Amino acid sequence: MPPYAFFHKQFMPLAEAKIGILTHALHYGTACFDGIRGNWNDEQQQLFLFRVKDHYERMYKGCRILKINLPYSVDELCQLTTELVEKSGYREDVYIRPLAYKSSEAIGVRLHDLEDDFLIIVATLPAYLDAEKGVRCCTSSWRRIDDTMIPARGKITGIYVNSALAKTEACERGFDEAILLTHDGHVSEGSGENIFVVLGGKLITPPSSDNILMGITRDTVIQLARRELGIETVERQVDRSELYIAEEAFFTGTAAHVSPIVEIDQRPVGSGEAGKLTKELQRLYFQAIQGKIPKYLDWCTLAYSKLVKTGHS
Ligand code: PMP
Repeated sequence: MPPYAFFHKQFMPLAEAKIGILTHALHYGTACFDGIRGNWNDEQQQLFLFRVKDHYERMYKGCRILKINLPYSVDELCQLTTELVEKSGYREDVYIRPLAYKSSEAIGVRLHDLEDDFLIIVATLPAYLDAEKGVRCCTSSWRRIDDTMIPARGKITGIYVNSALAKTEACERGFDEAILLTHDGHVSEGSGENIFVVLGGKLITPPSSDNILMGITRDTVIQLARRELGIETVERQVDRSELYIAEEAFFTGTAAHVSPIVEIDQRPVGSGEAGKLTKELQRLYFQAIQGKIPKYLDWCTLAYSKLVKTGHS
């Protein structure tokens, strides 16, 4: 089966889905996207799409900020996504990328008087960060964009120049990932992940006012910590120096899953290995996203209405 895309209101082979070189979003970053995971469960021969509705609700908010009119309701977007994945027939983990964009072929910086369009792509995604060994980080010399510059609560394509500058700087300096600080020096997030620290036994993560994307994985971990371990997460400002004295730290993200941070600015985090609470939350998270905890099945959408046939049956 060729990879399919949903493009111009229909399903078509990905290879045929093309946009023109004058497309507004390509020139000005005027698009809003999301990233959704489909997680393959081998025992059940089923792909579980994780929190699809929550992703589209977030995308809707981003579209409001960018004055993009989505021609579908959240429920219709969920339905289109499931259909696309089912058509594509993957039997492994997938990454789904919906994108709503200013599609007019027009020169001129603005949000008004432009056409909008919407597409969905489904693809495989190799491991984004090393969730086993852990991640080595540096704080970035780039600061996180502020809500008064481009609102971070929207997954707006133009914002990702900020992330790309930080990620490449970190990689070129020999690290795996960057941690961005806000303009006034508080910890914000990674280039594509939210961050948590364990300090004095407390689970702490920066608040939305520190210019983070309100991550679905972040919310998942907060809920798992509360409901499974009885641990409340404290959402508060985090100082850079608190990163150096934390017992544990980890990233969360759809691409990054729950990934332990083992080093920050050439200082080991805790013992320099994945922490106990991090590992426990990571275990619960992987179980939940693969549809293995009945209590959390309402987070999952089954991609295949019928069970997929295995090669041998
Ligand atoms: N922050 C940024 C900047 C991101 O790009 C992402 C990935 N979407 C996240 C945080 C994590 O969000 P989520 O858990 O919803 O994928």
